Amino acid sequence: MSLTQNEIVGVLKVATAYDGRQRGEADVMAWMDSAARAGWTYTEALEAVKEHFAFDGSWIGPAVVTKRIHAARESAERARLAELGAAKRAELESGGDATADPERAHRFFEAIADRFGWQHKPKAAAPALAVACPHCQAAPGRPCARVIRRGHREGEFVPLSNVHDSRVAASKNGAH
Ligand SMILES: [Zn+2]
Repeated sequence: MSLTQNEIVGVLKVATAYDGRQRGEADVMAWMDSAARAGWTYTEALEAVKEHFAFDGSWIGPAVVTKRIHAARESAERARLAELGAAKRAELESGGDATADPERAHRFFEAIADRFGWQHKPKAAAPALAVACPHCQAAPGRPCARVIRRGHREGEFVPLSNVHDSRVAASKNGAH
């Protein structure tokens, strides 16, 4: 990354607008060299000059610009990491990556459906819960569940939002 001569002239004109100090060709060459060595972008350099005069206002040289650019990049990176951290925490609090496990994905969409009032549960589910499930052995009143077969949660039960067909059938038989 570097700046063209025109861009350096533009940056220096902004500095001159603040401090009234005229810059010549030697300044342009020196700033261009610094820009190339320190990897400035035009936008960053302009921002750094404006920040310098907004908050400091002392003599400005390329090193001041470089320091401000580095500080701005670091704080942008910190903000990005904080955002990532917040997203990760939210993900963990919601029970992990909703796309990693089909059951989780299902529960995630169920939660959204509940929130928006979508009709998503089969009408047969509620009465079927009154009986034990012959398929997964869920007790009456408990949701049907599936056992995780692999991964670090192997052996855990995951409640299903639906009931097993055989449970629906059992509840119908029981009712008759
Ligand atoms: Zn079941």
